[in-house]
Amino acid sequence: MRGTSNGLQNNPASSVGPAAPRGTITVIAGCMFSGKTTELFRRLAEFSLPSILVFKHVIDQRYRADAVVSHDGEEWPAIQIASADEIMDHLRPGIEVIAVDEAHFFDAELVDVTRGLADRGVTVITTSLDRDSWGRPFAVAERLGAMADESIVRHAVCAECGVLADRTQRFAPIIDGNMVGGPESYEARCQACWVPPPTPPPDDTLPKGSAAP
Ligand code: ADP
Ligand code: MG
Repeated sequence: MRGTSNGLQNNPASSVGPAAPRGTITVIAGCMFSGKTTELFRRLAEFSLPSILVFKHVIDQRYRADAVVSHDGEEWPAIQIASADEIMDHLRPGIEVIAVDEAHFFDAELVDVTRGLADRGVTVITTSLDRDSWGRPFAVAERLGAMADESIVRHAVCAECGVLADRTQRFAPIIDGNMVGGPESYEARCQACWVPPPTPPPDDTLPKGSAAP
């Protein structure tokens, strides 16, 4: 008899119909200049504009404050937020895709928000540096990667020797712990050519959001 052999008859959820399908989580990681934001834009272009919201951290004022901008100059309008929970304030019917650029600027709350959005059927796409300027993994990037349905690691070209690069080289002085910057302060390097900046600060002494290019 239908409903007995597959257990549906005793499942309370079956009486209210199928649950909404879970949204997928895609994590695009890598060093600077590896094409993370470009890949994000390519994926967003597959969805209808009104169904997309793009977020960036207020600390990231490179190029423009009100848009995510790739190093090639492509732009996408973005909402600036100071913490991940603000994403939920913007969620409304019809939003199917939420993107977060430079996710390493956010703290671990972004992991819970991402999971919550996916549970509500939203497609979440994040870009993130996987390592800071001292080569240490970003905890939030690791945790997002661990729960991702799809995890993409991008590589750049080493500015020194031209092989595949997976490190970000800081060459500008670090003033007041501010690590935000672009091509004037950073370049992509392979592991052999990469030189960490002197005196790595202990993980827990870095100002929030500052440990990243
Ligand atoms: P990411 O988000 O990973 O930092 P983007 O997608 O914004 O990278 O941009 C990557 C592209 O930036 C590269 O494919 C390259 O064409 C371009 N680019 C512009 N300036 C530089 C630079 N100084 N070094 C390396 N790539 C650069
Ligand atoms: Mg980027």
